[in-house]
Amino acid sequence: MKPRRNTWQREAVRAALVGAHGFVSAQQLHQTLRDSGSTIGLATVYRALASLTEDGEADSIQAPEGENLFMSCGSTGHHHHLICRSCGAARELDATVVEEWASKVGAEHGFAEIEHVIDLFGICAACRAKEA
Ligand SMILES: [Zn+2]
Ligand SMILES: [Zn+2]
Repeated sequence: MKPRRNTWQREAVRAALVGAHGFVSAQQLHQTLRDSGSTIGLATVYRALASLTEDGEADSIQAPEGENLFMSCGSTGHHHHLICRSCGAARELDATVVEEWASKVGAEHGFAEIEHVIDLFGICAACRAKEA
């Protein structure tokens, strides 16, 4: 077993991530922590997020704009996300059809151990209602 790196900073970042609504950037999480009176630095937030992602306690995705976003997901296994690019709200998706397609296409080309990362971005119903 790997040594646990449960510093108070890591725990504070983890708690803020669990309390966040959907996917958030490191900057947003840093702002949330500062707003609640924490003196934590942005670099520490980045490090804590990297450590949580590495340990599977957080999911990390890259937004189309290139920014890394983080979420504390309910499921630890392989899954996909549907993310609102306006507010960050997210759903976790199972995509059996994608899993089957990926291994089939891989096998057709003689590839094994296929991995894939698929996240869907759009505008959620709540945000569309606000814009209307
Ligand atoms: Zn939204
Ligand atoms: Zn998949």
